[in-house]
Amino acid sequence: MAKNVLLRFVTVGKETPEKREADDRAHDFGEIYREFAAAKAAEQAGRCSQCGVPYCQTHCPLHNNIPDWLAMVAQGRLREAYEISQATNTFPEICGRICPQDRLCEGNCVIEQSGHGTVTIGAIEKYITDTAFAEGWVGAIAPAAERGESVGIIGAGPAGLAAAERLRRAGVQVTVYDRHDRAGGLLTYGIPGFKLEKPVVMQRIAQLAEGGVRFVQDCAIGRDIGFAELRARHDAVLIATGVYKARDVEVPGADLPGVVAALDYLTASNRKGFADAVPAFEDGTLDARGKRVVVIGGGDTAMDCVRTAVRQGAASVRCLYRRDRANMPGSQREVQNAEEEGVDFVWLTAPRGFSGRGRVEAVQVQRMRLAATDATGRGAPQVVEGADYEEPADLVIKALGFEPEDLPGLWEEPALPVTRWGTIKADFRTHATALPGVYAAGDIVRGASLVVWAIRDGREAADAMLAAFDGGARVAAE
Ligand SMILES: Cc1cc2nc3c(=O)[nH]c(=O)nc-3n(C[C@H](O)[C@H](O)[C@H](O)COP(=O)(O)OP(=O)(O)OC[C@H]3O[C@@H](n4cnc5c(N)ncnc54)[C@H](O)[C@@H]3O)c2cc1C
Ligand code: SF4
Repeated sequence: MAKNVLLRFVTVGKETPEKREADDRAHDFGEIYREFAAAKAAEQAGRCSQCGVPYCQTHCPLHNNIPDWLAMVAQGRLREAYEISQATNTFPEICGRICPQDRLCEGNCVIEQSGHGTVTIGAIEKYITDTAFAEGWVGAIAPAAERGESVGIIGAGPAGLAAAERLRRAGVQVTVYDRHDRAGGLLTYGIPGFKLEKPVVMQRIAQLAEGGVRFVQDCAIGRDIGFAELRARHDAVLIATGVYKARDVEVPGADLPGVVAALDYLTASNRKGFADAVPAFEDGTLDARGKRVVVIGGGDTAMDCVRTAVRQGAASVRCLYRRDRANMPGSQREVQNAEEEGVDFVWLTAPRGFSGRGRVEAVQVQRMRLAATDATGRGAPQVVEGADYEEPADLVIKALGFEPEDLPGLWEEPALPVTRWGTIKADFRTHATALPGVYAAGDIVRGASLVVWAIRDGREAADAMLAAFDGGARVAAE
């Protein structure tokens, strides 16, 4: 009888793939976690308790069939694991790398709750699809039959790409428009390589292009093509433009040279990873080398900035956040990684102003305390009067979050419905807006969110379009 390779969480301890030592990883933009070896992946997958109600699956936005693909990995049936995994997730190798698993699947794993340590779901998900690419199992998209309908997708981030993949598989003619020169959205130009190496993203874009998805890059809707014109070109349009208006700090000196926006900084760094010419990096504006860097913010973007500055060879890196560690929005895992790499977090602090002669030389820092819980469910920060101090700085990076651009104004389409926050109003399940044939998905609907939610939205919007093309009948796009 075959040895039982499952339910081994009592005898086998939790292990993650090897993490590179901080001294080694802090000098390059390679990912910090190494790949599981096959035997280790099988062993770790075998820790799954195969529980009757898998909370990991419930709490995965894509409802990935996690227990089944873990069972297949434990039994060495990797190709089947891949088939199950890719049936619900368009980009499993990306989610396996960058989902905040501690808040989603792994945080709700039953054996984690019972004190045995979660199954390392994300690492195994990544391992399955990395292996599938290496083994050549990830085939080209080949629709059984071509369809006559055409869809225009605005935005080549994860929401747009997930929709493109699903529509194309069903034979729809898909064109993706993006104002950047490369596809991928924040996967390409926002998230740094130490979390997500760029060839991982580029191989997916190549697969989509080979499968017949047409990419029109360097094309901003509203500037190069009007929104109305785009609607006239296609049977349906998906708005998947993300959110890009950076929130600002309104304090004296905020416009001094040397005070820069997080996404400008991260985009420049990612472009250097592609060996692009970036004048604002080459002239030092967006390069942290040798500088005393202060990052303002406590979210994942701030974490990516501090860790990028370390890798660029900053003299020192400090992160100012107005709440404390327990109340920060960013992932605790990323804070720990940053601390290991030498970042200094100064909790309960906020800038009162920036000063310098001709360019920033210091941040005037005010100390904060947390009062009663505010609307966000976290302690409300209050200034501690008389406790200000000055922090020397050569480069200040503002990472305070993002808001939607004014799409109805930019696109001269006042009928495009938006919420009071500027996000697009779309049906929760079909993602249809009030404009006929116009759908919306990802951050532009949710506000700044996660890749896995963008993928889910994109897939659902594609299904809704297919159903609409078929006169209401639901079409399976696989
Ligand atoms: C620095 C940073 C780090 C992050 N880290 C993580 C992480 O670790 N894990 C995680 O899950 N999420 C992370 N996120 C969030 C995640 O990246 C987003 O939730 C996700 O990318 C949203 O996908 P999207 O497709 O809606 O939009 P985007 O990825 O923003 O893509 C939108 C695309 O639309 C294009 N576009 C916009 N307007 C136009 C126009 N008018 N015409 C043509 N094209 C247009 C843009 O150029 C862009 O390519 C991070 C975000 C940032 C900023
Ligand atoms: S997609 Fe994200 S939440 Fe879902 S199983 Fe994978 S890592 Fe977990």
